[in-house]
Amino acid sequence: MSIRMFSIALSLLLASQVQAMESRTQLEESGWKTLTSYQQMMDYLQPLVASSTKVSMVPMGTSVSGRVIPALYFSNDPVFASQRANKPLVMISCQQHGDEPSGKEAALIVARKLLNENSDLLDNLDLILVPQVNPDGSELGTRRNANAMDLNRNHVILSEPESLALHQLFLKWLPEVTLDVHEYNAIKDPWIEAGFTKDADEMLGGVTNLNIDPNIIRFSRESFIPDMGKGVAADGFRFHRYIVGDPFEAGVVRFSTTAINDSRQSMGMYNSLSFIIEGKRYANTTNELEKRTRGQVSAMLNFLQTSNQHAADMLAIVKQARATMEDMDQSHIQMEYYADANHPVLNFPVFDLKSWERTNRDLENFKPLVKIRKSVYKPAAYAFPATEMRLIELLKRHQIPFQTLQRDDDFKTETYRVQHIVEAIDEEKPTYLVDVHKIARQETLQSGMIIVPVSGSAANLIPLMLEPESTWGIVSPRATGKYRFADYLVEGQDYPVKRLPPQDKLNLEKLAE
Ligand SMILES: [Zn+2]
Repeated sequence: MSIRMFSIALSLLLASQVQAMESRTQLEESGWKTLTSYQQMMDYLQPLVASSTKVSMVPMGTSVSGRVIPALYFSNDPVFASQRANKPLVMISCQQHGDEPSGKEAALIVARKLLNENSDLLDNLDLILVPQVNPDGSELGTRRNANAMDLNRNHVILSEPESLALHQLFLKWLPEVTLDVHEYNAIKDPWIEAGFTKDADEMLGGVTNLNIDPNIIRFSRESFIPDMGKGVAADGFRFHRYIVGDPFEAGVVRFSTTAINDSRQSMGMYNSLSFIIEGKRYANTTNELEKRTRGQVSAMLNFLQTSNQHAADMLAIVKQARATMEDMDQSHIQMEYYADANHPVLNFPVFDLKSWERTNRDLENFKPLVKIRKSVYKPAAYAFPATEMRLIELLKRHQIPFQTLQRDDDFKTETYRVQHIVEAIDEEKPTYLVDVHKIARQETLQSGMIIVPVSGSAANLIPLMLEPESTWGIVSPRATGKYRFADYLVEGQDYPVKRLPPQDKLNLEKLAE
């Protein structure tokens, strides 16, 4: 054997030792025809994880039908998240909606690539990857879980084991960066009647709710989304910032939702750089599986590439935003969309059904600006009777700390008397407009009352959940889940959750002794 031949043989041998297993998913094996089932996913992941020290697999939770939901922890360091002070932690979750399978298929391929040709994407970050949040929905081919609940509208109430498990994984680590992977249906009647369909292969959305730190909103919109978009476009996919809504008649085209009951925005409430990806599919969930999966692989790899490139900035932005969260003394409980005179229309990638061409079109009824409609000042704490077990359970699901009043004590309080409840529409969804009258008084709160301080990492979230006028509160029809608190709103009666105004901070400190 010549020296040259020998060195080639040696390098091949070394390569085979450092390369993790190169197994294929069912979708790849079948020539992009058959989706990978839950069991096939587990059969693929187990040897892959066993082949490398850079990944481990832990159960995140268990679905309604008893399927274990795996989470993969990736790190190029010997100990996962041991370099947290210098490296952001990224969490990517896929397939909360069971009929959006391309995210899971892509996640399985990305997991393999991260142990092989794309291991450099882990140089500046650690990653938690959840390939399939909703295994029951996936097996059934349904959007919802086996309780017929939409998991990505359940992050306020957290009544479902799958959304709860995902949220608790998030709370355990508080990742600086999160991505939730979805698909959107490009086949929509009013668009087809107008002669075109949406044609972005991948749409990336950032956080939009104005309670989230402005630097996070700005960095997402001005740096991260455009940078990632360049990478996705270079891979041959049409990219756009995530939009929802219709440009027709009374519709509103906007940059997604301000609601906090989805994964992206609920995690954004903790001042994370939180995103959602929407890959394009048509009405049938099994069309163009190869293209859809490759598009999602491109989106996820470019997401990691962009995170890797901006790692230091992202770490600093999140650190600063979390350190100053408690300084915000207002909670913005209602928001509205506005047109921008400088950008009256949105130029958007479409498929023209007359010319049969991929082109662009100016969409009307474009309202890109989000403005505050109503704010309240944040109280020092909320207080409610210990008999409200449902509310105690909700706080526990969110891991929000609370105290029990040990003796009767005088407090300044504010109580909402519910005047009128009017049903309305917000973001095309039913909501309530609640008219309340606030009564301020000095009163004795009984021993046993539950006191919820508005502080800590959930300081943004607590008022948005508990204020009766909040668009996204626990009483809102938008907070779906079997434990919704609609009965807390009765015209002419007091809302059961009281506010303890900020001047009672001293009083609370005394209580904590
Ligand atoms: Zn979805």
